[in-house]
Amino acid sequence: MAVILSSGVSIKEQIALLVELQEVDMAISGLHEQKTHLPKIPDSIRQLLQQAKQGMIEAANLQEEVQSSWKSLESDLEEQEKSIQKSKGRLSELKTNKEYQAHLFEIDLAGKKRSQVEERLLLIMDRAEAVDQQVLKAKEEIGRQEAALEASLIKIEVDEADIDRDLEVLLHSQKQLIPQLDEALLKQYEQVRSSHSGRPMVSVHGGACSGCQLQVPPQLVAEVRRGEALHVCSHCQRFLFWPREQEPDAK
Ligand SMILES: [Zn+2]
Repeated sequence: MAVILSSGVSIKEQIALLVELQEVDMAISGLHEQKTHLPKIPDSIRQLLQQAKQGMIEAANLQEEVQSSWKSLESDLEEQEKSIQKSKGRLSELKTNKEYQAHLFEIDLAGKKRSQVEERLLLIMDRAEAVDQQVLKAKEEIGRQEAALEASLIKIEVDEADIDRDLEVLLHSQKQLIPQLDEALLKQYEQVRSSHSGRPMVSVHGGACSGCQLQVPPQLVAEVRRGEALHVCSHCQRFLFWPREQEPDAK
């Protein structure tokens, strides 16, 4: 079966244009497909960032706790100091030796308590230093994870931009090709294309249709090779063409 074209249209040229259009159409479909498979942001990156933020919250809470303990110990120390000074001031008011001795004992006891508070204060200062470091590290970790997230976003955007640029070139070629094609022929091409996964033009190779792999009658092979009409494979209904590279001298 051969497709009849409007008069004055060179069939050889039309076949070549259709093959070219098919290449462009397939490349466009391929790029659309590629776009749907662009990598997504890995879950692991989001999880690590989430963990880093959680670490920051914990470190900041700890820092607040330690600072509040520090303040309360400082005010304890101040209280102890005041009470010791007050007790010392009262020594001169005491009448008996017994009272005096008892008061000295109390002052001594308060001094010991003050030393204990001082020791705890030193410990909490060390702890505060460690917690400050922890907060700093948590901040750095957030920065690192945010940078990793940003980098993978940029990578995906760059890939998408590459595809869009290629698509633009192909769509331009498609736009150039379509007006050169016979309208009825183009319509048929589109029909066959939609029913054959985007590949309506198939070459004849070794006497067989490269679309369905079934043998093409020798007479039809000869006609396809002459290229004076557009023939259709009787098995799969695709358009048959003779590839240029198969026999460069073929006229
Ligand atoms: Zn076929």
